[in-house]
Amino acid sequence: MEWLNQVVTGLMPIVPKYFVGRVASRYIAGNTLDDAIQVTREFNQANALTTIDLLGEHTETKEQAVEAARIYHQILDQIDSDKVDANISLKPTHLGLRVDYNLCENLVGEIVDHAAQLHNFLRIDMEDRETTDDTFKLYYKMRSRHDLSVGVVIQAYLRRTIKDVEHLIESKANLRLCKGIYREPREAAFKNRSIIINNYAFILNELLEGGCYVGIATHCEETIWQAQKIIHNLKLSSDKFEFQMLLGVEDDLRQILLNQGHRLRLYVPFGKEWYAYSTRRLKENPTVAGHIMRDFFGIKSIGK
Ligand SMILES: Cc1cc2nc3c(=O)[nH]c(=O)nc-3n(C[C@H](O)[C@H](O)[C@H](O)COP(=O)(O)OP(=O)(O)OC[C@H]3O[C@@H](n4cnc5c(N)ncnc54)[C@H](O)[C@@H]3O)c2cc1C
Repeated sequence: MEWLNQVVTGLMPIVPKYFVGRVASRYIAGNTLDDAIQVTREFNQANALTTIDLLGEHTETKEQAVEAARIYHQILDQIDSDKVDANISLKPTHLGLRVDYNLCENLVGEIVDHAAQLHNFLRIDMEDRETTDDTFKLYYKMRSRHDLSVGVVIQAYLRRTIKDVEHLIESKANLRLCKGIYREPREAAFKNRSIIINNYAFILNELLEGGCYVGIATHCEETIWQAQKIIHNLKLSSDKFEFQMLLGVEDDLRQILLNQGHRLRLYVPFGKEWYAYSTRRLKENPTVAGHIMRDFFGIKSIGK
């Protein structure tokens, strides 16, 4: 029911901020770093790890990028001093990628240095396809500084990904594999759900067989089943991969994976930019809008 999801997306601007906040709150730890640390502590107690993300993207000025970097340094210090089990995720456009590539590289470079010094790890999120080349460039540059302290994300819906993974496998990259959330044109991205699921499994198999550490980021049970089949066939030990999920999504499935003894990491966003983040996400992906509006109206199903 794609059309219905499109309709609810169109309606989002007239939904009062208060309601969006109520619905979005389950996906976000809170406004402050303390909130993200508290959520991490709770998940750590339940044997799950987290990756902490400061909300924000498409920064327009150098000052905003520098401020985001300052907070990322604070996150690393607090993870270390509070002794919680978490790493960090950041979006290159939040750190100024669109303002000036060199600015972004310098800021992210200092964050990676800091992460390496604390034996922590930085995951570079992948955004829309306009930023893919620069994000890979940034990633390889960061690896030349601290090989083991940085990883990147790849998206199974992009047609180019199968080519991108050749070099990533050669260099034994640490990757998060997701389907991809941005609305891309058909020439760049597969649109068919079953092709995306199969491409995900195909790429995952290549990565694991090639010796990459993979964060298997999905809430889709079919994709998880495919992943478990690959892991079984390759006889992989549990230290070669982890499952990853977003905070507030598919709690039952998360618990099933934890009960099976898998390593699992929650993506925990925090910060004041929640409104922009939530509404942008809704506009970018009407399927997600469907999930949120379903929750909003308390109805069982509004299509996928
Ligand atoms: C840890 C993590 C990090 C990610 N990082 C990136 C990134 O860097 N770049 C990027 O492009 N994308 C990223 N994504 C998003 C990803 O690309 C997908 O858009 C998203 O995970 C939905 O795909 P899916 O595989 O979970 O399966 P789907 O088939 O889309 O969803 C499976 C089921 O999960 C549930 N579900 C999925 N999403 C939601 C939601 N938002 N709210 C409520 N229920 C939901 C529904 O029950 C649905 O039926 C990330 C996802 C995760 C889990």
